[in-house]
Amino acid sequence: MNRRDFLATASVGSAALAFSSCNEGNRQAIDYSKQVKEKENKQKTIHVNKNKKTTIRLATSWPAHFPIMGTGVENFVKRIKEISGGSLEVKLYPKNVLVPALAVFDACSSGQIDAFHSGPYYWKGKNSAFSLYSGIPFGFTAEEINSWMLFGGGLELWREQYAKYNLYPFMGGNTNIQMGGWFRKPITSIEDMKGLKMRIPGLGGEVFAKMGVNPILLPAGEIYTSLERGVIDATEWVGPALDIKMGFYKVAPYYYSGWHEPGSILELTFNNKYWNKLGREHQSMIEVASSEMNSNMTSEFHAENIKALQTLKSLDVNIMQYPKDVIEVGKIALTNVITELSTANKDFQKVYASIDKHLQLSKEWSDTSLRYFLNER
Ligand code: CA
Repeated sequence: MNRRDFLATASVGSAALAFSSCNEGNRQAIDYSKQVKEKENKQKTIHVNKNKKTTIRLATSWPAHFPIMGTGVENFVKRIKEISGGSLEVKLYPKNVLVPALAVFDACSSGQIDAFHSGPYYWKGKNSAFSLYSGIPFGFTAEEINSWMLFGGGLELWREQYAKYNLYPFMGGNTNIQMGGWFRKPITSIEDMKGLKMRIPGLGGEVFAKMGVNPILLPAGEIYTSLERGVIDATEWVGPALDIKMGFYKVAPYYYSGWHEPGSILELTFNNKYWNKLGREHQSMIEVASSEMNSNMTSEFHAENIKALQTLKSLDVNIMQYPKDVIEVGKIALTNVITELSTANKDFQKVYASIDKHLQLSKEWSDTSLRYFLNER
């Protein structure tokens, strides 16, 4: 070992020692065993009767075996059975089997089903604030929205507002950054966006409407034909992994990077009364398995997108970026949408204020770390 190596090792070693003694200090200062006892007493643990099976009726907004979103929920069902030793099971009802895709919110609220898997922005008609729990244009990445939800007050606000509908939500996945969509003709300036008929839902749709686009809502099964026949000029969907299966590249070969859904959250939501009746062990199992589903689905989207992008490139799809003036007008449109919805709805104002506080700090840190790194990589 030469001197430089030795010094490097010694320095890492003393840092490790310093860290270890610091941990030791913390351990002595806090008696964790006492904390757990106090918490247990407060929560009045109800022990699960292993001989009695509890079955959760869970409906989704996705068809059976729908890639990533549907299969992710199927894996959650399997994991719940495994970790509960069979005392907790989920009976899964894919889209339209028991409840229509977009009726799951009401069906769960009334107790017709016990839980559902869907996306919060579908319920903006109930309360415009709910669209914010999916994310906002130019807003959080998947990692950033997870940090707001878990450590920035997002989940508390969400649960407080869903409680008025007798619902108790969890994060149930994230699509990761979405693509801007498929266009029949290239976009060279903001003028090309004006009057364009585009399938785009959620807050993104409202922003695009302010930019002069005519947002159209279409069932998934009708998008391809509408695009092929020129009934619509463009559509957004999700990202390469799911878009490629829809075949949009065959009829609208211009594929744009996106900013309207930078990290959309999916939800696993329970009927609140049902949730409160579950034993604490079963609740914990659901908390753990939903957390696994949230992180696995996010990673799977990334893993599948990187492969599908290569396939799309081999199919001669034009991978494009919006012109600068589209971005500038988009940012102004977003500010106007936020101002209007905040004025009209106190809940929206409250949730947006919480998002904005976290987002401004998050942007500074992400610019300092991640943006620097990605630019240099
Ligand atoms: Ca989308």
